[in-house]
Amino acid sequence: MSTTLETDICILGGGIAGLWLNARLRQQGFQTLLIEHGALGGGQSVKSQGIIHGGTKYALHGSLTTAAEAISGMPARWRACLQGQGELDLRGARLLSQHHYLWSPGSLISNLAGFFASKALRGRVEAVKGEQLPAAFANRAFKGKVYRLDELVLDVPSVLQQLAELGAGSLIADSHAQIERGANGEISSVQVQGGKIRAQRYVLTAGEGNEALLSDWGVSEPRMQRRPLQMVLVKGPALPALYAHCLGNSPKPRLTITTHPCSDGQWCWYLGGELAEQGVGQSADNLITKARNELTELLPWVDLSACQWATLEVNRAEPAQSGLVRPDSAYVQAIGNALIGWPTKLALAPNLSDLVIEQLARQAITPQASVSQHELTPPSVAAPAWESCFR
Ligand code: FAD
Repeated sequence: MSTTLETDICILGGGIAGLWLNARLRQQGFQTLLIEHGALGGGQSVKSQGIIHGGTKYALHGSLTTAAEAISGMPARWRACLQGQGELDLRGARLLSQHHYLWSPGSLISNLAGFFASKALRGRVEAVKGEQLPAAFANRAFKGKVYRLDELVLDVPSVLQQLAELGAGSLIADSHAQIERGANGEISSVQVQGGKIRAQRYVLTAGEGNEALLSDWGVSEPRMQRRPLQMVLVKGPALPALYAHCLGNSPKPRLTITTHPCSDGQWCWYLGGELAEQGVGQSADNLITKARNELTELLPWVDLSACQWATLEVNRAEPAQSGLVRPDSAYVQAIGNALIGWPTKLALAPNLSDLVIEQLARQAITPQASVSQHELTPPSVAAPAWESCFR
């Protein structure tokens, strides 16, 4: 490309945040171009567990935090999209589970007292027994308590695929896109494939990549933090579907299990929670041994003998907080003619889009550009961890 493309909004980074925003802006009449330097969602999004949180996990402390309030409307918003009645049409995306569950394996009821005292959660958490229990608990030896949450679990690659289709024509693959700084310190253009993109506003939704983009642009704020995880993957021919937070002795889940379909017909349990937080820095072998022991203790009737095991190291990238704590909601900051954002949760991608759209309205940015025709190569959707880790 040797020409300059003019557009209203240029988005850098095509994970859940950039793709959702791109689709929303186009729906509102903006011309957009989104530049992705690898595969769509290849940072965190395809490595996420796909849980559309409604805040219940955060209410385990007994009081609803700002995070729980910001996130509480998300399940309904995503459900509407999946049914074709929401802000974006995601009818082609795959729902893995209508519900995520909370599971207390033994006598940890005290942990739950404060949780159920939270008024905002009443009506959104329901105890389940007998035939209503998820298949993985269908065994006479099972003694725990299980609660159904008003939260869903999605197959993230299919969500990304749908969003990519909604953004068809606006997505550009470029591994060397570069921000050009103008004399006034603002972004003057983005260099791609030998040409330039100029926009009214630039939005940085590159996840962990925002840090390098900001540094290339010569801007030091906002600062970013990484919170690392080492996830464990267990793949087998007969693993029962399970989507649940297993409670331990702290307000954080001891284990969060989601179940994902693999292209070879097997299923993969993807294990997060404290196991993955405490697994950072451990050898993969040690962590796998710990995970195997946990599962054997919690679900001794599940046959793991034919399973394959793997781990995955991945960082959560977020705006810096004091003490590496989790930020409360989606985050967007305006710097010159750019907006820098991190959703902080996959579930909060709609919230991030709201914040960007509010900022554009506040800055009186309206659709101006005509359609930019180009023949630049579009990016593909990244392969999920359960396809790439067992090699
Ligand atoms: P990303 O998905 O990382 O996307 C950023 C994109 O920008 C990438 O595609 C990358 O290739 C691209 N990029 C990077 N640099 C550049 C550049 N210079 N130019 C152009 N493009 C660039 N949240 C939930 O709500 N529910 C969950 O169950 C959940 N589970 C999680 C499990 C794990 C193991 C992890 C790590 C996170 C989880 N999260 C979950 C959090 C969630 O995944 C993230 O908050 C969310 O995916 C971040 O989306 P993003 O679009 O900001 O970033």
